[in-house]
Amino acid sequence: MKIKGRAEHSLWYYSQLFKVPLSLISDSNIHLHVNDTLDDKVINIPGYFVKEYDLAQNDSFDSLATKLNINTEALHLVNHGDLTNLTEYSKINIPVRVTEPIVNGEQKYTYLTMSEDIKRLEEIYPFMKTNTIGHSVQNREILEVIVGNGPKQVHMNGSFHANEWITTAVLMAFLNNYLLSITNQTSLAGLKTEPLYHNATLSLVPMVNPDGVELVLNGLANDDKSLEYVIALNEGSPDFSNWKANMNGVDLNKQFPAKWELEQPRKPQQPGPRDFPGYRPLSEPETMAMATLTMNSNFDRVIAFHTQCKEIYWGFDDREPPYSKIIVNEFVKNSGYRPVQTLDSYSGFKDWFIYEWKKPGFTVELGEGENPLPITQFKNIYDESIGIFLAGLYM
Ligand SMILES: [Zn+2]
Repeated sequence: MKIKGRAEHSLWYYSQLFKVPLSLISDSNIHLHVNDTLDDKVINIPGYFVKEYDLAQNDSFDSLATKLNINTEALHLVNHGDLTNLTEYSKINIPVRVTEPIVNGEQKYTYLTMSEDIKRLEEIYPFMKTNTIGHSVQNREILEVIVGNGPKQVHMNGSFHANEWITTAVLMAFLNNYLLSITNQTSLAGLKTEPLYHNATLSLVPMVNPDGVELVLNGLANDDKSLEYVIALNEGSPDFSNWKANMNGVDLNKQFPAKWELEQPRKPQQPGPRDFPGYRPLSEPETMAMATLTMNSNFDRVIAFHTQCKEIYWGFDDREPPYSKIIVNEFVKNSGYRPVQTLDSYSGFKDWFIYEWKKPGFTVELGEGENPLPITQFKNIYDESIGIFLAGLYM
């Protein structure tokens, strides 16, 4: 929520008044300069929204504050000091602390749902930043969110593969619960999370392949220009539930320049619903966006979430550092998933990260069964993998 600042106040004062860590208030107000007076400035307070309240007979400011268990000063601030001439039935603003997540991951989690959730999270938690890192074939924005001010740069992503869209739902639930927990200083899965905020800066791209996810979840409109083409790629079938690729029929996780030339000859030579590595590495806008983001960032580790089989791949071409094994062992302890050092597979995103930077990179295969995993697995997957998300930030 937004309040109007006063000259005699400091951000520290607001942190005490609203019981929100000072670092989160500072990071929510980067438009302010250190020596600015707060007088009349708009101040973002994370973790609250403002609700209208009808004054009842005999309500006074003090009695109302007691009744609603809020500080009288907080009440003044959300009403911008304009509290003269109150009468019965006047409407006033009251600050309401957000104590529940707003993301519901247990549903067909579409691109639109994700975009709207990100917007709402940004409003409630203005210390979270959002960037557009590129556009998909069908011109959807590929979104990255950033949370934290720690030195360790941790990147996570989901839905490289369209029919693995449940990974986006799980990551968005992690994100929301993490934001909620650091703001309210509650624990998440038994862990105090505020130190993680200062330990790591999280870069999260929850949906790398938005067109593919939309194709799987909603199909295409009859007048969509791509309809005929993708039905042809899909061997004439309008059932896209097993589609993995992007809208050009390229498998985005076989597109990276890490021994691509070994993968290419043994995979399909033509576009299709899965496994086609493209005519050259990074030919697709989605993979180019991810590569550019990675080259322009200084990630210390990356974790790509896929489905399924409860395995964690953690090596590539003997180039992973020794620390990768320590991290994967922590992931395994927290999730019960199996560690697998190397696979006969090349040119994935995490392969390229290890190959190019020799830093820890992981592919986590969530859940078990057959893709696409039913959304009824959501809660189980969340519970078994939240420890991977957290270890990704604290290790
Ligand atoms: Zn996958």
